[in-house]
Amino acid sequence: MNTSNAFPTRRTRFTRWCLAAGFAVIAGVAALLIGLYVHHVRQQVGSDYTALVADIVRAQQLGPQLELALDNLVEQPTPQYLHQLNQLTWLAEQQLKSAQQGLERYPLLTRDYAYLQDDIYLLEQQLTELAELAPHARDRAALTELQQLGSNIEVNLAWIYSELNNLVHTAVGHQRLMSQRLAQAVTALVALVLLITAILLAAVLHLQRQRNTMQQLMLTDELTGLFNRRYLVATISNQLAQARRQHQPVSFMLMDLDHFKYINDTYGHPVGDEVLRRVTRRIAALSREIDTLARIGGEEFCLLMPNTSKEAAEQVAARIREEIAALPLDTVTATLGVTISIGLTTTENGEHTFEQLYSFADQALYQAKEKGRDRTETVLPPFPVGSSPSTRPPALHNYHQERHV
Ligand code: GH3
Ligand code: MG
Ligand code: MG
Repeated sequence: MNTSNAFPTRRTRFTRWCLAAGFAVIAGVAALLIGLYVHHVRQQVGSDYTALVADIVRAQQLGPQLELALDNLVEQPTPQYLHQLNQLTWLAEQQLKSAQQGLERYPLLTRDYAYLQDDIYLLEQQLTELAELAPHARDRAALTELQQLGSNIEVNLAWIYSELNNLVHTAVGHQRLMSQRLAQAVTALVALVLLITAILLAAVLHLQRQRNTMQQLMLTDELTGLFNRRYLVATISNQLAQARRQHQPVSFMLMDLDHFKYINDTYGHPVGDEVLRRVTRRIAALSREIDTLARIGGEEFCLLMPNTSKEAAEQVAARIREEIAALPLDTVTATLGVTISIGLTTTENGEHTFEQLYSFADQALYQAKEKGRDRTETVLPPFPVGSSPSTRPPALHNYHQERHV
Protein backbone atom coordinates (compact mmCIF):
# COMPACT_ATOMS: atom_id res chain seq x y z
CA MET A 1 0.00 0.00 0.00
CA ASN A 2 1.26 3.40 -0.90
CA THR A 3 1.12 5.25 2.37
CA SER A 4 1.54 8.66 0.78
CA ASN A 5 -1.75 8.12 -1.09
CA ALA A 6 -3.52 6.64 1.89
CA PHE A 7 -2.58 9.51 4.18
CA PRO A 8 -2.63 13.09 3.08
CA THR A 9 0.21 15.25 4.37
CA ARG A 10 -0.35 17.39 7.46
CA ARG A 11 -0.45 20.43 5.26
CA THR A 12 -3.17 19.12 2.92
CA ARG A 13 -5.13 17.88 5.91
CA PHE A 14 -4.86 21.33 7.48
CA THR A 15 -5.94 23.02 4.23
CA ARG A 16 -8.90 20.66 3.90
CA TRP A 17 -9.95 21.33 7.45
CA CYS A 18 -9.59 25.09 6.94
CA LEU A 19 -11.72 24.88 3.80
CA ALA A 20 -14.39 22.77 5.50
CA ALA A 21 -14.41 25.04 8.57
CA GLY A 22 -14.50 28.19 6.40
CA PHE A 23 -17.35 26.80 4.35
CA ALA A 24 -19.26 25.78 7.47
CA VAL A 25 -18.81 29.29 8.93
CA ILE A 26 -19.97 30.97 5.69
CA ALA A 27 -22.94 28.61 5.47
CA GLY A 28 -23.72 29.31 9.15
CA VAL A 29 -23.64 33.10 8.63
CA ALA A 30 -25.80 32.73 5.51
CA ALA A 31 -28.26 30.61 7.48
CA LEU A 32 -28.36 33.28 10.22
CA LEU A 33 -28.97 36.11 7.72
CA ILE A 34 -31.68 34.14 5.95
CA GLY A 35 -33.23 33.37 9.35
CA LEU A 36 -33.32 37.10 10.21
CA TYR A 37 -34.79 37.91 6.79
CA VAL A 38 -37.44 35.22 7.21
CA HIS A 39 -38.35 36.69 10.59
CA HIS A 40 -38.59 40.20 9.14
CA VAL A 41 -40.67 39.12 6.15
CA ARG A 42 -42.92 36.97 8.31
CA GLN A 43 -43.91 40.03 10.32
CA GLN A 44 -44.96 41.89 7.19
CA VAL A 45 -46.54 39.00 5.41
CA GLY A 46 -48.62 38.34 8.51
CA SER A 47 -50.57 41.62 8.05
CA ASP A 48 -54.26 41.23 7.34
CA TYR A 49 -55.69 44.11 5.28
CA THR A 50 -59.33 42.96 5.36
CA ALA A 51 -60.45 45.36 8.10
CA LEU A 52 -58.71 48.33 6.45
CA VAL A 53 -60.22 47.53 3.05
CA ALA A 54 -63.70 47.33 4.65
CA ASP A 55 -63.13 50.76 6.29
CA ILE A 56 -62.05 52.27 2.97
CA VAL A 57 -65.08 50.88 1.11
CA ARG A 58 -67.44 52.22 3.80
CA ALA A 59 -65.74 55.63 3.70
CA GLN A 60 -65.98 55.78 -0.10
CA GLN A 61 -69.73 55.19 0.11
CA LEU A 62 -69.99 58.10 2.56
CA GLY A 63 -69.06 60.68 -0.15
CA PRO A 64 -72.31 60.36 -2.18
CA GLN A 65 -74.35 60.12 1.05
CA LEU A 66 -72.85 63.42 2.25
CA GLU A 67 -73.61 65.05 -1.07
CA LEU A 68 -77.22 63.85 -0.96
CA ALA A 69 -77.66 65.06 2.60
CA LEU A 70 -76.22 68.45 1.64
CA ASP A 71 -78.55 68.73 -1.38
CA ASN A 72 -81.52 67.94 0.85
CA LEU A 73 -80.45 70.57 3.34
CA VAL A 74 -79.95 73.19 0.67
CA GLU A 75 -83.40 72.51 -0.77
CA GLN A 76 -85.17 72.26 2.60
CA PRO A 77 -83.08 73.55 5.47
CA THR A 78 -85.11 71.65 8.08
CA PRO A 79 -83.63 70.54 11.45
CA GLN A 80 -84.08 66.94 10.34
CA TYR A 81 -81.81 67.35 7.28
CA LEU A 82 -79.39 69.38 9.32
CA HIS A 83 -79.20 66.59 11.87
CA GLN A 84 -78.66 64.03 9.13
CA LEU A 85 -75.82 66.09 7.61
CA ASN A 86 -74.21 66.58 11.03
CA GLN A 87 -74.32 62.87 11.68
CA LEU A 88 -72.72 62.04 8.35
CA THR A 89 -70.04 64.69 8.88
CA TRP A 90 -69.24 63.26 12.27
CA LEU A 91 -69.12 59.76 10.78
CA ALA A 92 -66.74 60.92 8.04
CA GLU A 93 -64.44 62.43 10.67
CA GLN A 94 -64.47 59.24 12.71
CA GLN A 95 -63.78 57.06 9.68
CA LEU A 96 -60.88 59.27 8.68
CA LYS A 97 -59.36 58.95 12.17
CA SER A 98 -59.93 55.20 12.27
CA ALA A 99 -58.38 54.79 8.78
CA GLN A 100 -55.32 56.78 9.93
CA GLN A 101 -54.94 54.66 13.05
CA GLY A 102 -55.37 51.52 10.96
CA LEU A 103 -52.69 52.62 8.53
CA GLU A 104 -50.20 53.02 11.36
CA ARG A 105 -50.52 49.31 12.09
CA TYR A 106 -49.31 48.24 8.63
CA PRO A 107 -45.55 48.56 8.19
CA LEU A 108 -45.83 48.30 4.42
CA LEU A 109 -48.24 51.28 4.31
CA THR A 110 -47.04 53.72 6.97
CA ARG A 111 -44.26 55.21 4.88
CA ASP A 112 -46.25 55.05 1.60
CA TYR A 113 -49.25 57.10 2.60
CA ALA A 114 -47.17 60.05 3.93
CA TYR A 115 -47.78 62.03 0.74
CA LEU A 116 -51.53 62.00 1.53
CA GLN A 117 -51.07 63.62 4.94
CA ASP A 118 -51.73 67.16 3.64
CA ASP A 119 -54.92 66.05 1.88
CA ILE A 120 -56.11 64.22 4.99
CA TYR A 121 -55.44 67.29 7.10
CA LEU A 122 -57.35 69.41 4.55
CA LEU A 123 -60.32 67.02 4.61
CA GLU A 124 -60.40 67.19 8.41
CA GLN A 125 -60.54 70.99 8.20
CA GLN A 126 -63.21 70.87 5.49
CA LEU A 127 -65.39 68.55 7.56
CA THR A 128 -65.05 70.82 10.61
CA GLU A 129 -65.97 73.79 8.43
CA LEU A 130 -69.01 71.93 7.06
CA ALA A 131 -70.21 71.16 10.57
CA GLU A 132 -69.88 74.84 11.50
CA LEU A 133 -71.50 76.16 8.30
CA ALA A 134 -74.39 73.67 8.06
CA PRO A 135 -76.62 75.39 10.71
CA HIS A 136 -76.54 78.57 8.50
CA ALA A 137 -78.08 76.76 5.52
CA ARG A 138 -81.06 79.20 5.58
CA ASP A 139 -78.69 82.05 4.95
CA ARG A 140 -78.41 82.74 1.21
CA ALA A 141 -74.81 83.93 1.48
CA ALA A 142 -73.78 80.76 3.32
CA LEU A 143 -75.61 78.56 0.87
CA THR A 144 -73.20 79.04 -2.02
CA GLU A 145 -70.23 78.55 0.26
CA LEU A 146 -71.86 75.41 1.64
CA GLN A 147 -72.40 73.97 -1.83
CA GLN A 148 -68.83 74.77 -2.84
CA LEU A 149 -67.50 73.20 0.35
CA GLY A 150 -69.65 70.10 -0.20
CA SER A 151 -68.31 69.54 -3.68
CA ASN A 152 -64.69 70.11 -2.46
CA ILE A 153 -65.22 67.58 0.31
CA GLU A 154 -66.56 65.01 -2.09
CA VAL A 155 -63.64 65.42 -4.49
CA ASN A 156 -61.06 65.33 -1.70
CA LEU A 157 -62.69 62.37 0.04
CA ALA A 158 -62.91 60.39 -3.21
CA TRP A 159 -59.28 61.17 -4.02
CA ILE A 160 -57.94 60.20 -0.57
CA TYR A 161 -59.82 56.92 -0.37
CA SER A 162 -59.10 55.91 -3.93
CA GLU A 163 -55.39 56.54 -3.27
CA LEU A 164 -55.59 54.53 -0.06
CA ASN A 165 -57.32 51.77 -1.95
CA ASN A 166 -54.49 51.74 -4.52
CA LEU A 167 -51.92 51.68 -1.75
CA VAL A 168 -53.57 48.70 -0.11
CA HIS A 169 -53.72 46.85 -3.42
CA THR A 170 -50.05 47.55 -4.04
CA ALA A 171 -49.25 46.37 -0.52
CA VAL A 172 -51.23 43.15 -1.03
CA GLY A 173 -49.30 42.52 -4.27
CA HIS A 174 -46.07 43.23 -2.44
CA GLN A 175 -47.18 40.90 0.32
CA ARG A 176 -47.80 38.12 -2.19
CA LEU A 177 -44.34 38.63 -3.66
CA MET A 178 -42.82 38.55 -0.20
CA SER A 179 -44.66 35.32 0.58
CA GLN A 180 -43.07 33.74 -2.46
CA ARG A 181 -39.66 35.05 -1.43
CA LEU A 182 -40.29 33.81 2.08
CA ALA A 183 -40.98 30.32 0.76
CA GLN A 184 -37.78 30.50 -1.29
CA ALA A 185 -35.81 31.76 1.70
CA VAL A 186 -37.16 29.00 3.92
CA THR A 187 -36.23 26.43 1.28
CA ALA A 188 -32.73 27.92 1.03
CA LEU A 189 -32.46 27.91 4.81
CA VAL A 190 -33.43 24.26 5.04
CA ALA A 191 -31.01 23.42 2.22
CA LEU A 192 -28.21 25.29 3.99
CA VAL A 193 -28.89 23.56 7.29
CA LEU A 194 -28.88 20.21 5.48
CA LEU A 195 -25.66 21.17 3.71
CA ILE A 196 -23.96 22.15 6.97
CA THR A 197 -25.12 18.91 8.55
CA ALA A 198 -23.81 16.95 5.56
CA ILE A 199 -20.45 18.74 5.71
CA LEU A 200 -20.08 18.07 9.42
CA LEU A 201 -21.16 14.46 8.99
CA ALA A 202 -18.72 13.95 6.12
CA ALA A 203 -15.94 15.52 8.20
CA VAL A 204 -16.69 13.24 11.15
CA LEU A 205 -16.88 10.14 8.93
CA HIS A 206 -13.66 11.12 7.18
CA LEU A 207 -11.96 11.58 10.52
CA GLN A 208 -13.24 8.25 11.74
CA ARG A 209 -12.07 6.49 8.58
CA GLN A 210 -8.66 8.07 8.90
CA ARG A 211 -8.43 7.04 12.53
CA ASN A 212 -9.43 3.47 11.66
CA THR A 213 -6.89 3.27 8.84
CA MET A 214 -4.23 4.73 11.06
CA GLN A 215 -5.07 2.28 13.82
CA GLN A 216 -5.02 -0.60 11.35
CA LEU A 217 -1.63 0.46 10.03
CA MET A 218 -0.28 0.86 13.52
CA LEU A 219 -1.52 -2.45 14.85
CA THR A 220 -1.48 -4.86 11.92
CA ASP A 221 1.07 -6.41 9.66
CA GLU A 222 0.85 -5.33 6.04
CA LEU A 223 1.80 -8.61 4.38
CA THR A 224 -0.39 -11.03 6.30
CA GLY A 225 -3.03 -8.77 7.84
CA LEU A 226 -2.28 -10.28 11.26
CA PHE A 227 -1.81 -8.19 14.38
CA ASN A 228 1.73 -7.00 14.98
CA ARG A 229 3.95 -7.06 18.05
CA ARG A 230 2.66 -3.64 19.21
CA TYR A 231 -0.89 -4.95 19.38
CA LEU A 232 0.20 -8.14 21.07
CA VAL A 233 2.04 -6.24 23.82
CA ALA A 234 -0.97 -3.97 24.30
CA THR A 235 -3.48 -6.78 24.57
CA ILE A 236 -1.52 -9.40 26.48
CA SER A 237 -1.39 -7.55 29.81
CA ASN A 238 -5.19 -7.30 29.77
CA GLN A 239 -5.49 -11.00 29.02
CA LEU A 240 -3.09 -11.90 31.82
CA ALA A 241 -4.89 -9.61 34.29
CA GLN A 242 -8.19 -11.25 33.40
CA ALA A 243 -6.65 -14.71 33.82
CA ARG A 244 -5.38 -13.68 37.28
CA ARG A 245 -8.84 -12.47 38.28
CA GLN A 246 -10.56 -15.61 37.02
CA HIS A 247 -7.75 -18.04 38.00
CA GLN A 248 -7.46 -19.38 34.49
CA PRO A 249 -4.42 -20.64 32.61
CA VAL A 250 -2.99 -18.78 29.62
CA SER A 251 -0.88 -20.50 26.99
CA PHE A 252 1.57 -18.74 24.74
CA MET A 253 3.03 -20.17 21.55
CA LEU A 254 5.98 -19.00 19.44
CA MET A 255 6.07 -20.43 15.89
CA ASP A 256 8.88 -20.23 13.36
CA LEU A 257 8.90 -21.63 9.81
CA ASP A 258 11.66 -24.14 9.21
CA HIS A 259 14.35 -23.35 6.66
CA PHE A 260 12.36 -20.47 5.30
CA LYS A 261 15.46 -18.80 4.01
CA TYR A 262 15.86 -21.74 1.65
CA ILE A 263 12.41 -21.06 0.12
CA ASN A 264 13.30 -17.43 -0.42
CA ASP A 265 16.68 -18.25 -1.86
CA THR A 266 15.36 -21.00 -4.12
CA TYR A 267 12.02 -19.65 -5.36
CA GLY A 268 12.37 -15.95 -4.76
CA HIS A 269 11.01 -13.48 -2.25
CA PRO A 270 7.51 -13.14 -3.81
CA VAL A 271 7.00 -16.90 -3.46
CA GLY A 272 8.21 -16.62 0.13
CA ASP A 273 5.64 -13.87 0.71
CA GLU A 274 2.84 -16.01 -0.71
CA VAL A 275 3.90 -18.92 1.53
CA LEU A 276 3.77 -16.59 4.54
CA ARG A 277 0.26 -15.47 3.61
CA ARG A 278 -1.07 -19.00 3.12
CA VAL A 279 0.54 -20.32 6.29
CA THR A 280 -0.91 -17.49 8.38
CA ARG A 281 -4.36 -17.97 6.86
CA ARG A 282 -4.22 -21.61 7.89
CA ILE A 283 -3.09 -20.88 11.45
CA ALA A 284 -5.76 -18.19 11.77
CA ALA A 285 -8.39 -20.70 10.67
CA LEU A 286 -7.21 -23.10 13.37
CA SER A 287 -7.24 -20.57 16.19
CA ARG A 288 -10.28 -19.51 18.18
CA GLU A 289 -12.04 -16.17 18.25
CA ILE A 290 -10.63 -15.34 21.68
CA ASP A 291 -7.02 -16.18 20.68
CA THR A 292 -4.63 -13.51 19.47
CA LEU A 293 -2.47 -14.39 16.50
CA ALA A 294 0.33 -11.96 15.69
CA ARG A 295 3.29 -11.75 13.33
CA ILE A 296 6.25 -10.72 15.44
CA GLY A 297 9.10 -11.21 12.98
CA GLY A 298 9.91 -12.26 9.41
CA GLU A 299 8.57 -15.82 9.54
CA GLU A 300 7.76 -15.91 13.24
CA PHE A 301 4.33 -15.80 14.75
CA CYS A 302 2.86 -16.12 18.17
CA LEU A 303 -0.50 -17.29 19.41
CA LEU A 304 -1.86 -16.12 22.74
CA MET A 305 -4.52 -18.49 24.04
CA PRO A 306 -6.51 -17.34 27.06
CA ASN A 307 -8.23 -19.92 29.24
CA THR A 308 -6.12 -22.72 27.71
CA SER A 309 -4.23 -25.38 29.64
CA LYS A 310 -0.85 -26.76 28.59
CA GLU A 311 -2.47 -29.98 27.33
CA ALA A 312 -5.08 -28.16 25.26
CA ALA A 313 -2.41 -25.85 23.84
CA GLU A 314 -0.24 -28.85 22.89
CA GLN A 315 -3.18 -30.29 20.97
CA VAL A 316 -3.61 -27.01 19.11
CA ALA A 317 0.14 -26.94 18.38
CA ALA A 318 0.05 -30.50 17.03
CA ARG A 319 -2.86 -29.60 14.80
CA ILE A 320 -1.10 -26.52 13.48
CA ARG A 321 2.07 -28.46 12.71
CA GLU A 322 0.17 -31.20 10.92
CA GLU A 323 -1.89 -28.83 8.84
CA ILE A 324 1.06 -26.65 7.88
CA ALA A 325 3.08 -29.67 6.86
CA ALA A 326 0.16 -30.87 4.73
CA LEU A 327 -0.54 -27.45 3.25
CA PRO A 328 -0.54 -27.58 -0.56
CA LEU A 329 1.75 -24.77 -1.65
CA ASP A 330 1.72 -24.97 -5.42
CA THR A 331 3.63 -22.21 -7.13
CA VAL A 332 4.20 -21.55 -10.82
CA THR A 333 7.51 -23.33 -10.65
CA ALA A 334 7.18 -26.02 -8.05
CA THR A 335 5.16 -27.65 -5.30
CA LEU A 336 6.61 -26.62 -1.98
CA GLY A 337 6.46 -28.13 1.42
CA VAL A 338 6.97 -26.18 4.58
CA THR A 339 7.09 -27.15 8.24
CA ILE A 340 6.88 -25.18 11.42
CA SER A 341 8.57 -25.42 14.84
CA ILE A 342 6.67 -24.41 17.93
CA GLY A 343 7.76 -23.29 21.41
CA LEU A 344 5.04 -23.41 24.02
CA THR A 345 4.59 -22.22 27.58
CA THR A 346 1.65 -21.97 29.97
CA THR A 347 1.08 -19.79 32.99
CA GLU A 348 -1.39 -21.30 35.45
CA ASN A 349 -3.45 -18.29 36.80
CA GLY A 350 -1.81 -15.73 34.50
CA GLU A 351 0.70 -14.76 37.18
CA HIS A 352 3.59 -14.16 34.75
CA THR A 353 4.50 -11.20 32.65
CA PHE A 354 4.65 -11.06 28.87
CA GLU A 355 8.45 -10.88 28.95
CA GLN A 356 8.60 -14.01 31.08
CA LEU A 357 6.19 -15.96 28.88
CA TYR A 358 8.05 -14.85 25.79
CA SER A 359 11.33 -15.96 27.27
CA PHE A 360 10.00 -19.49 28.12
CA ALA A 361 8.39 -19.93 24.73
CA ASP A 362 11.62 -18.74 23.12
CA GLN A 363 13.62 -21.36 25.01
CA ALA A 364 11.09 -24.01 23.96
CA LEU A 365 11.38 -22.91 20.34
CA TYR A 366 15.14 -23.19 20.52
CA GLN A 367 14.78 -26.74 21.77
CA ALA A 368 12.33 -27.59 18.97
CA LYS A 369 14.81 -26.34 16.40
CA GLU A 370 17.68 -28.14 18.09
CA LYS A 371 15.78 -31.41 18.17
CA GLY A 372 15.26 -31.42 14.41
CA ARG A 373 12.42 -28.94 13.70
CA ASP A 374 8.77 -29.66 12.75
CA ARG A 375 7.98 -30.32 16.41
CA THR A 376 6.62 -28.70 19.55
CA GLU A 377 8.55 -28.24 22.77
CA THR A 378 7.14 -26.92 26.02
CA VAL A 379 8.95 -24.97 28.73
CA LEU A 380 6.91 -24.26 31.83
CA PRO A 381 7.73 -21.42 34.24
CA PRO A 382 10.19 -22.92 36.76
CA PHE A 383 10.26 -20.17 39.38
CA PRO A 384 7.69 -19.29 42.02
CA VAL A 385 5.29 -16.43 41.53
CA GLY A 386 6.68 -13.05 42.64
CA SER A 387 10.33 -13.69 41.87
CA SER A 388 11.80 -11.40 39.25
CA PRO A 389 13.28 -12.75 36.02
CA SER A 390 16.76 -11.82 37.29
CA THR A 391 16.43 -14.27 40.22
CA ARG A 392 15.14 -17.15 38.10
CA PRO A 393 17.40 -20.09 37.25
CA PRO A 394 19.42 -19.24 34.14
CA ALA A 395 17.95 -20.67 30.95
CA LEU A 396 20.14 -23.00 29.01
CA HIS A 397 19.37 -21.69 25.54
CA ASN A 398 17.18 -19.05 24.03
CA TYR A 399 16.13 -19.20 20.35
CA HIS A 400 16.41 -15.52 19.61
CA GLN A 401 19.62 -14.95 21.57
CA GLU A 402 21.26 -17.86 19.82
CA ARG A 403 20.12 -16.63 16.41
CA HIS A 404 20.82 -12.95 16.71
CA VAL A 405 23.83 -12.51 18.99
P1 GH3 B 1 15.18 -21.97 10.74
O1 GH3 B 1 14.59 -23.28 10.39
O2 GH3 B 1 16.38 -22.15 11.63
O3 GH3 B 1 14.24 -21.01 11.27
O4 GH3 B 1 15.76 -21.39 9.37
P2 GH3 B 1 15.22 -20.16 8.60
O5 GH3 B 1 15.84 -20.18 7.25
O6 GH3 B 1 13.77 -20.13 8.61
O7 GH3 B 1 15.70 -18.97 9.49
P3 GH3 B 1 16.37 -17.59 9.21
O8 GH3 B 1 16.09 -16.71 10.36
O9 GH3 B 1 17.82 -17.82 8.86
O10 GH3 B 1 15.65 -17.07 7.97
C1 GH3 B 1 14.46 -16.36 8.01
C2 GH3 B 1 14.25 -15.82 6.66
O11 GH3 B 1 12.97 -15.19 6.55
C3 GH3 B 1 15.25 -14.77 6.28
C4 GH3 B 1 14.47 -13.70 5.55
O12 GH3 B 1 14.91 -13.49 4.25
C5 GH3 B 1 13.09 -14.27 5.51
N1 GH3 B 1 12.08 -13.25 5.65
C6 GH3 B 1 11.89 -12.41 6.69
N2 GH3 B 1 10.84 -11.63 6.45
C7 GH3 B 1 10.34 -11.97 5.23
C8 GH3 B 1 9.27 -11.51 4.44
O13 GH3 B 1 8.51 -10.62 4.80
N3 GH3 B 1 9.06 -12.09 3.23
C9 GH3 B 1 9.85 -13.10 2.80
N4 GH3 B 1 9.61 -13.64 1.60
N5 GH3 B 1 10.89 -13.54 3.51
C10 GH3 B 1 11.13 -13.00 4.72
MG1 MG C 1 13.18 -17.00 12.33
MG1 MG D 1 12.77 -20.03 10.42
